[in-house]
Amino acid sequence: MAFRISMAYLKLFVTHGVLLMFGFFLIFMSSEKDAYEKMSEDIIKSVEARGDENLLNPYSTQGFSMRIQNKVSMEKIYDDIAYKPRGTTEFFYGIHMDLTNARYAIVINDDRNFSVRNKDYVGRFQYNLTDSYERFIAIAWKLLLLYLVIVASIIRKGKRSDIKLLEPIRVMSATANRLTVNNLHSERLNVEGTKNELKDLANVINAMLDRIETSYESQKQFVSDASHELRTPIAVIQGYINMLNRWGSTNEEVLQESIEAIQNEARSMQDLVEKLLFLSRHDKKTLKLTKKRFNMRPLVEDMVRETKLVAGNRIINNPIMEDVIVYGDKQALKQAIRIFIDNAVKYSKDGDEITIKCQKMNDDCVITVSDTGIGMTKKDIDHIFNRFYRSDHVRNQNISGHGLGLSLAKLIILAHTGKIKIHSQFKKGSSFIITIPKRKF
Ligand code: ADP
Repeated sequence: MAFRISMAYLKLFVTHGVLLMFGFFLIFMSSEKDAYEKMSEDIIKSVEARGDENLLNPYSTQGFSMRIQNKVSMEKIYDDIAYKPRGTTEFFYGIHMDLTNARYAIVINDDRNFSVRNKDYVGRFQYNLTDSYERFIAIAWKLLLLYLVIVASIIRKGKRSDIKLLEPIRVMSATANRLTVNNLHSERLNVEGTKNELKDLANVINAMLDRIETSYESQKQFVSDASHELRTPIAVIQGYINMLNRWGSTNEEVLQESIEAIQNEARSMQDLVEKLLFLSRHDKKTLKLTKKRFNMRPLVEDMVRETKLVAGNRIINNPIMEDVIVYGDKQALKQAIRIFIDNAVKYSKDGDEITIKCQKMNDDCVITVSDTGIGMTKKDIDHIFNRFYRSDHVRNQNISGHGLGLSLAKLIILAHTGKIKIHSQFKKGSSFIITIPKRKF
C-alpha cells in the first residue's frame, strides 16, 4: 500500500517535473526571442532614420547589410539581413549566417515591413536561438538534478509518514479478519492514536458492529425462546403418546383425553409456528402489504359477531360503530385486531365485559378493545410488546399463549403508520386503542 502511494507520488512528480521544464523552456526561449525582436526594431528604426536609399539597393554589393550584436555581450550574432522590395516575391540575401556547423540550428524568421523615402521594403530577420537553447539545456540539467534530489527526499519522508498513516488501517483490517460471531461482543476496531477521517471511519464501523451484535443477539434470543416454547408442547404430546401406548387400547377415557390433548397441543404448536414464521420473515420494512381503501366498520362488526359466538359467557358490548374508510391491508389489519380481541377474551373471565368500538376521529380510524379482565401492572405494560413476554400472573394461571401475538399486531399496525395506546389497571381491566391514520398523500 505504502509502495503504491509512493509510486503515485512519483508519477505526480514526474508529470509535474516535465510540465515545469517545458514551461521553463517556453519562458526562457521567448524571453531570448523578445530580446532579438527588440534589436530588429532598433535596426528598422535606425534604417528609417538614416533614409539612405542606396543602402537599400537590392543590387548593391553593400546590400542591406548591418551588423547585429547582442546588446549585453556585444557578441556578434549574425552579419546579414535579407530583404526584398515590396511587390517582389524573392528575398535577396547578403552574407548569410552559417548555420551548417551549429549543433542545434534553431532559427526563427521574422519578416518586417519598413519604408525609406516612400519605398516599402520587407526585411527578413533571422534569429539564431541555438546558443540560447544550449544555455537552456545546461541550466535544465542542473535544475533536473536539484529536482531529483528534492523528489527523492520527499518520497523517503512521505514513505515513512505513509507507513505511519497506514498503520491504523493495517490494525483495523487485522481486527476485521479476526471478527466472527463468537467474538462479536469483544472485538472492536481500536481508535487509539487514529486521527481525523480514519478515526471517524473506525467509529462508524464500530457503531455498525454494535448494531449487528444487537440484532444478532436478539435473533439468537428469538431462536432460543422459540425452541423453548416448542419444547413444552412436544413434551406434552410425547407424554400422551406414551400414555396411549400403554393404556390407549384398553382404556377408552385415556384414549379420549389423549386425543383431545394432542389436538390442543398440535393447534397451539401450529399457532406458535405460524407466528414465529411471520415474525422471523418480516419486519416493519419488509412486510409486504396489499393496501386498498375499505370501510373498517363491517370488518369490526364481523369480528364482534364471531367473538359473540365463541365467547358467549363474556358480555360483548359494541356501543359505537362508525363508518370509516381506511387505506390498508384488510387481511393483515383483521389479523392484528383479532389478536387484541382474543386477548380480551383470554385475559378475562366469565361475566366480564368486552367493549369493541370503531370510530372516526379527525378522519383517522380508531379501534378500541377494552375488557374488565385481569389487567396489567405497570411493568407488564412496558414489556408486553417484547417477543415471548408474558406477565407472571398470566403464566401462573396457566393461560395458554406464547407471548408473540402483540409483537405481531404491533408490526402490522406500525406498517400502517398506526399507533397503539394502552390503559390498564391490575385486576380491573385493560383498554387497547389502535389508531390507523388517514392516508397521507
Ligand atoms: P400471549 O397472549 O400469547 O401471551 P401476547 O403478545 O398477545 O401473547 O400478549 C403478551 C402478554 O400481554 C400476555 O401474556 C399478557 O400478559 C399481556 N396481555 C395482553 N393482552 C392483555 C389483556 N387484554 N389483559 C391483560 N393482559 C394482557
